[in-house]
This record gives sequence, structure tokens and C-alpha cells, in this order.
Amino acid sequence: VTKIGVLTSGGDAPGMNAAIRAVVRTGIYYGLEVFGIMRGYNGMLEDDIIPMNSRSVANIIQRGGTILKTARSKDFFETEGRKKAYANLKKYGIDGLVIIGGDGSFRGAQKFANEFDIPCIGIPGTIDKDMAGTDYTIGFDTAVNTAVEAIDKIRDTMDAHDRLFIVEVMGRDAGYIALHSGIATGAENILIPETKTDIEALIHSLTEKEKRKKLVNLIVVAEGEEFGGAEEIAKVIKERVPNADTRVCILGHIQRGGAPSCHDRLVASHMGYYAVESLLIGRHNVMVGVINNKIHYTPLDMAVKERQAIGQEWMKIVKILAS
Ligand code: ATP
Repeated sequence: VTKIGVLTSGGDAPGMNAAIRAVVRTGIYYGLEVFGIMRGYNGMLEDDIIPMNSRSVANIIQRGGTILKTARSKDFFETEGRKKAYANLKKYGIDGLVIIGGDGSFRGAQKFANEFDIPCIGIPGTIDKDMAGTDYTIGFDTAVNTAVEAIDKIRDTMDAHDRLFIVEVMGRDAGYIALHSGIATGAENILIPETKTDIEALIHSLTEKEKRKKLVNLIVVAEGEEFGGAEEIAKVIKERVPNADTRVCILGHIQRGGAPSCHDRLVASHMGYYAVESLLIGRHNVMVGVINNKIHYTPLDMAVKERQAIGQEWMKIVKILAS
């Protein structure tokens, strides 16, 4: 490997810039030429590829988003599209790729690596954290801390007015942001896609609580929860517990942005370094992860097959601590 390309793909996540910086600087340290590929796989298809040097990644470690921009590329799903992408890479002599993104991006990378002789290394960059083969994904720590900060503020109003608040956090398929931010803010209920929502039990506990005292209650909901998120849950509660002063707050995209936390910057730097090292020593088509504080490599095809499950004991802990 002598010339490598780096790209960010799928949803952006805080810390992606720190990973780009680590890949570029490690590559240059080892005498490689490094190219930045703009807007995910679109940059490969449309020949939007730029040479990078150590200065191109100066002063970005603290910035959210991604300087390479990111996108979802329809054409990369097609064989024709990937052929075109390969031809463009060849023009520059690029013979190795680092892909920073989520499982969709790795699915694309795996296909590409199987079809053409371009080794691909994945770095998990997603706020959802649900990827197999790693304890951390870049962006999760920042996103969850943003959620905690916001929920703390909501709790002040909730307590002052004796309200029932339903806060929706991100997570279409994964409940990690809801689980972690809910536990950290002392939420009474946490509803996530991985577990069936027992609406009857929820209504029952709210009704009982209301009988005893004013109904002050925090429910943290992941957007992909069974009933369809905070608005849907609120509808049921307003109907069945009409005396509660029920409010909904959807945190939305604030969870994606902002300066990455120290932890995300460290993880990104660590993974970025090892992604380049992997290309150099011929450990190809793997995702770089961290398990028990050690770097861990998972073949891309395995990384996209499995997801990191949420231990059911956590839901028990939520119940005990909120009672
Ligand atoms: P996140 O879930 O955090 O948004 P992601 O990487 O899972 O990130 P996706 O939108 O699923 O995001 O995938 C990003 C891009 O990867 C797609 O737009 C497409 O270009 C490529 N890709 C995904 N799946 C495939 C596939 N099966 N074959 C080819 N390319 C794919």
C-alpha cells in the first residue's frame, strides 16, 4: 500500500474529524500519500478526491461534523457505480481505503473490497453505538453527554411545575443513547427498540403514582421505540392519565453536533492510527474496534452481520433505581 484514501460516510458523528486527522497524519508519518474523498462514496463516483497533507487536518480535532463531508450514495449500491468508483481510485493510484461510518457504510466497503483489489478498513463512526466488535463507536459519548445536559435542564422545569415529561432521543434501531442518558438523568422509564414497550404496565405505574402524589415523571424514549416515539406515547398517556400535565420534548439533531468529548477524540485517534497500521501490515477488510481497552479487529463481513445487544440486566437496574 502506497496511496490511501479516507472518507466519511452515512450519518455524521462528532469525532469523525479526529479520526480523519489520525489517519492522515499516521499515513504521512509512514510515507504514504493520503487522499481525502469528499461526501462519502459520492466522492469516489464523481472524482471529488483531494490530496491531503499534515496541514489539511490542522485545527480540526475539536470540531464536530466532518471536513470531508458525508453523504448517502445511491449509486454505490449498484455494480456500475462501484466500477466507476474503482476506476476513479485507480486514476490516483489509490490502493487502500479507510472508511469512517456505520454498518451501512461497511456493507458497501465489504462489497467493494470483494469485487476489486482495494483493501478496506472500517472505523466505527456512529452515535448509535450498536456495532458488534467494539465497545465504543466514535460520536456516542458526545451525543449521549449532549442528551444528558439537555435532559437535566428539562428536569428542572419538570420538577418546578410537577409535569410528566417524555423526552425523545435519537436511535432508530438502537436504544443506547436512551438507556445511557436515561440512567444518567434518573429517568423513571426508558423505552427502547430492543425491548417490547409494556404500555399497560407503564400506564398502571403512572396511575398509581398519580394517586399517591403529584405526577412528576421523566420518560426517555428512543425514536425507534415500538409505538413510534415520544408523540405516540404521549397520545396514549394523555388519554389514559388525563390529569397528568404531560409534555413532549424531541431533542433531535442537537445530539449529532458539537465539539467531540475527550473520550471520542481519544477513541478516534486510537482507531485512526491502527486503521493505517492495518493497511500497512496487510490486515485487510477489517473494522478497527476497541474491546476491554485493547484494539480489536473484526472482519467487515462479521461486523455488519451482528449488532451489539443491550444486556437485559440494565432494564432491571433502571426499574430498581427509579423506584
Ligand atoms: P449511520 O447508520 O450512522 O447513518 P451508515 O454507514 O449505516 O451510518 P447508511 O446510510 O446505511 O449509513 O450507509 C451509507 C452508505 O453506504 C450508503 O448511502 C451507500 O452508499 C453505502 N452502502 C450501504 N449499504 C450498502 C450496500 N449493501 N451495498 C453497497 N453500498 C452500500
